[in-house]
Amino acid sequence: MGPPGAGKGTQGELLAEHFGIPRLSTGDMIRAALDEGSPLGERVREFYDAGRLVPDDVVLDLVAAAFDRPEAERGFLLDGFPRTVAQADGLGALLDARELALDAVLSLEVPDEEVVDRITGRRVCSSCGHVTHVRAVEAGTACPECGGELSQRSDDAPETVRTRLAVYREETEPLLAYYAKQVGLTAVEGVGTVEEIQGNLRAASDGVGAT
Ligand SMILES: [Zn+2]
Repeated sequence: MGPPGAGKGTQGELLAEHFGIPRLSTGDMIRAALDEGSPLGERVREFYDAGRLVPDDVVLDLVAAAFDRPEAERGFLLDGFPRTVAQADGLGALLDARELALDAVLSLEVPDEEVVDRITGRRVCSSCGHVTHVRAVEAGTACPECGGELSQRSDDAPETVRTRLAVYREETEPLLAYYAKQVGLTAVEGVGTVEEIQGNLRAASDGVGAT
């Protein structure tokens, strides 16, 4: 868990690799379902094409399908899901039905100012997709990888980031208390280099799944 821009994707991928388990993110599941064109994918497409948020029951069906794939047999890491208490209740039911339980819930802690700086400073290359930060490149220069044009995604504009953070605080943050009570919650320092933060996450999940 963690606010937008906390590095959940990058860190989750590294941590999943460390444990030899798949990282399950709902964004990836939605994209994969759209690509597959399965019946579930068609349901996702209805909402996606209408520019609407994919509803919880469809998201939970996607998560259930991911749990039942052979890759997930030894475990899985959920990234950015659940986002609301309703989704967490749905997840609980899916796990109960499979006689599974969460081993750990990690919360990547990043202060608001740091989140805003990270996201609003993000620049993406329009040619190769390389992602960098304004401070890492000289003003007005091109992509260090391919020389393409760097620009800011509309999602990364300051007012959009403030809105995303407010949604996180209102809808997702209550889950921290929810899981603190149910499973136990480990807060992890989310500021530092990628390696430092990964070290914090591994230390916090030491012994998880060792049974
Ligand atoms: Zn580039």
